[in-house]
Amino acid sequence: MGPVVQNDKKSPKGFLYRTVGIHGGLTVLAVAALASGCAQSGTPVSPAPGQQRLQAPPARAPDSYADRLRTSAQRAAAARRWGLEQVPLVPPPPPATKPRITARPGFEVGHQEDWDLPPVFTTVPTKDKVVFLTIDDGTEKDPAFLRMMNDLKIPYTAFLSNYLIEDDYDYFRKMQALGVTLNNHTLHHPYLPGLSYEEQRHEICGMQDVMRKEFGKRPKVFRPPYGNYNQDTLRAAKSCGIEYAPIWNEEVYVDHWEFREDDQRMRPGDIVLTHFRGPGEWNGTMVDTMRRFLDHVTAEGFAVARLEDYL
Ligand SMILES: [Zn+2]
Repeated sequence: MGPVVQNDKKSPKGFLYRTVGIHGGLTVLAVAALASGCAQSGTPVSPAPGQQRLQAPPARAPDSYADRLRTSAQRAAAARRWGLEQVPLVPPPPPATKPRITARPGFEVGHQEDWDLPPVFTTVPTKDKVVFLTIDDGTEKDPAFLRMMNDLKIPYTAFLSNYLIEDDYDYFRKMQALGVTLNNHTLHHPYLPGLSYEEQRHEICGMQDVMRKEFGKRPKVFRPPYGNYNQDTLRAAKSCGIEYAPIWNEEVYVDHWEFREDDQRMRPGDIVLTHFRGPGEWNGTMVDTMRRFLDHVTAEGFAVARLEDYL
């Protein structure tokens, strides 16, 4: 593939992003995969550094060691079916004690702590070598994506915007039935800081009502569109029952990644963003995006864990 391409740009909040062509690092990644003990043939996966919880007592029955190995063997077969280069690593059991999540420094608003506003964060404080996959908006509704993720047992969290999903709530009901948590990403995906408090409240609480009606639950987790928010956003979100406002530390496209951190590396607990987008908008399907995402995460020695297990 071509050389690594870097494009620096500033986010609306002034944070530096860099774009790196993922293919530039594939040779190195393949070597890293061998070193991390990835199983290509259905053999059990050795815990990578930071995944020592495998020896800890199981947090609940489905996480017993035997079950986890069986899951790993199933993943090996599924990985072959879906054309992955490597078998995704099995995440450690959910933490017995949930980490205390606070706003990322620099991402707080006034009265963040004393008004107990939902924290905006990009990384969950954990030493587990895991990342959390979050998928936004809802434009593309690819049945093969649902099959792939269920087949591979890869957890993810969806942030839905009503105007993009209202033509097919059933697609997301199927997703929910497969164990995926559906969360709030507003009614119309506006730039929230440009709206009044009442308008923001309508966007967030209105979506809570839609989620309750269509999916049976009012989420506790909300993501502001574009990652843009102000104090009114978090006040409004709190008044609608929101407790957390995660954004992301990496953004994954079908053909490249964008990192928030200058060193261009994933960190344990990072929240990764991608979108329900397909060939109409990107140069590939959601299955293509997930194949490349998973191969990269595995090559770096990370597993994909469930965000809600840490909240
Ligand atoms: Zn969005």
